[in-house]
Amino acid sequence: MEILKSEYIFSNGKILKDYLVVVDKNTVIDVDKSNLILKSYNNIKIRDLGYGVLFGGFINLHTHTELSYMKNKLPRKKGFVGWLEAMIKSKKTEEDKNTIIASAQKGIKDMASYGTVAIGDISNTLISCELLKNTMPLSVVFFENYALNKERACLVKKELQDTLIKLENGCKPIKMTPTAHSVYSTNGCLIEFLANKQPNNPFSIHFLESEYEKPFINSQGKLFELLDGYGLVDTKLNYKDIFDYLKDINAYRKKTIFVHCVEANNSDLEKIKEIDSTVCLCPRSNKFISDTLPNIYAIEKSGVNIGVGTDSLASNDDLNVLNEIRYIYKHFNIKPQKLFRWITDNPAKALNLNLGLQKNKAAYGVFFATNTPQPLEEILENQLKPLTFKVQ
Ligand SMILES: [Zn+2]
Repeated sequence: MEILKSEYIFSNGKILKDYLVVVDKNTVIDVDKSNLILKSYNNIKIRDLGYGVLFGGFINLHTHTELSYMKNKLPRKKGFVGWLEAMIKSKKTEEDKNTIIASAQKGIKDMASYGTVAIGDISNTLISCELLKNTMPLSVVFFENYALNKERACLVKKELQDTLIKLENGCKPIKMTPTAHSVYSTNGCLIEFLANKQPNNPFSIHFLESEYEKPFINSQGKLFELLDGYGLVDTKLNYKDIFDYLKDINAYRKKTIFVHCVEANNSDLEKIKEIDSTVCLCPRSNKFISDTLPNIYAIEKSGVNIGVGTDSLASNDDLNVLNEIRYIYKHFNIKPQKLFRWITDNPAKALNLNLGLQKNKAAYGVFFATNTPQPLEEILENQLKPLTFKVQ
C-alpha cells in the first residue's frame, strides 16, 4: 500500500488540490483531503510526485491496433469513398502476419507510454487479445464482423453462433464482445444478431462518419454506388431516418458507442441520448479522411456521454488519445476539465470499466510534471509527456 502525493489530482472528472490518494496495487483504497488521509493512514509510505497532476490513466475509446501496419499507406483528404476504395484495395494484398502483429504490439506499447491504460479495440482477427493482456488488461476487444451480402451475412451469423463462446474464452482475461462495423458494410440480419448477442455489454458501431451514410440507407449516393458496383448490395434499403432502420433491425439498443457522428444532427443526438449511449469522437481521423470535423459544440450541448478515440493508423498519425483532445482544444473552445473527462470517466462508463482515481476503482500511475496554476491547460498546450509508474 502507498500514498500518492501530487500538487493536483484528477478525480471524478475534476481537478483537485491538496488531496491524497491511497492505493494498494492497482486499487484505490481512499481519496480525500490531505490532512484527513494523513490522520487515517499512519506509517504508510508516501510517494511524493511533486508539482503536477496525477491521473488514474487515459482510455482510448476507439482504435484498431491490428491496422497499425497501415501507417502512411492510405491517402489523406480524398473523401470517405476515396479512402474506403484505397482501404479495400490495400486489404486485397495480404500483409505478412508477423508484420501485422509487430506493428500492433508497437501501437499498444506506444499507447501505454502516452498514459493510456485501457482501450476499446476493434478487431477482426482477435490478435490484440494476447497483446493486451499484460499491458492493458482492462481493455475491451470488440470482435468486429461485417458482410453486406445477405447470404454471406447469414453464413457469418451461423459461424459465430458456433464459435463465439470459444473465441470469448480464448481472449480471457481480456473481455471480448461481438460488434458490427457499420450499417453500410453489414447486412441487417447480422447487425441484429451482433447487437443482441450480449445485451449488457457495450456495442460499438461506426456511425454517420460521412455524408454518404444517410443516402446509403435510402439506396442512393456515392457510397451506395461504390458497394453496389462491387456487387455487394442485394438488400435495397429505403429509409429516411437511420434510427428507423436500427429500430427495424432491433439494433437500437442501450450502451452503444456511436463512433464518429460527423453527420449527426440534433435529432440523431437526442436518440443516442435516449438509450444511454455514447458518442465517440475521432476528429483527427475525420480530418485525415474527409477534411471535415464533427459539430463538437452541438454534440457537447446535447448532453450525451462523450468519449474520444484515435481510430487507427490507417487514418491518423499516432494513437495518442491525449493528442486527440489537444487537437479538439486547439479547434474548439471547450474547457480542459471537460476534455480530460472525455478520455477518463466518460469512456470508462461507455466500456463498463471501474477505472479512475476514486475509492474502490482500479487506477494506474500517470503523472505530468507542470509549473503553473493551470496545469490542464499546460498539458494541452505543450507536448508534455507523462511519467507512468506501477502503483504498489
Ligand atoms: Zn474505426
